[in-house]
Amino acid sequence: MSHCPFCQIIEGNLEASVIYEDDVCLAIVPLHAPYPESAVVFPKEHIDHFTDLPKDLANHVMGVGFEIGKKIMSMYSPGRVGMGVHGYGVAHAHFNVFPQNHPYDVVFRKMAYVKEGEVRFGFKNLPVPSREKMDEIAATLKIEK
Ligand SMILES: [Zn+2]
Repeated sequence: MSHCPFCQIIEGNLEASVIYEDDVCLAIVPLHAPYPESAVVFPKEHIDHFTDLPKDLANHVMGVGFEIGKKIMSMYSPGRVGMGVHGYGVAHAHFNVFPQNHPYDVVFRKMAYVKEGEVRFGFKNLPVPSREKMDEIAATLKIEK
């Protein structure tokens, strides 16, 4: 059994609110996001670095993220929709798609906190939505294959 949480989800060992799934990728509502109406899209194959994905797979993952981004904009009307590869967190290549309502949302300003006089970033101040809320968001953001 893999220790990678995304592989655990793919293997059915961890619960997730699925937005989209096909033969090669999965899109879910993330547990930790500045705004819960977000998505994380990843290939089913465990590959650590996004830049190591075969180009067709990277394009496919980003294309799914693009469609979900359009859905986020149409369903939730944020100021902007941001997309990107963070590169840290889960060591399984993934593409983030998230609403933005402030210029600093691209760096997840809600993740900032001060400890011992230094500004740090982490998930500790981000609430985890209920499974019901994440399932509702997943149903709202469903896209067609
Ligand atoms: Zn993995």
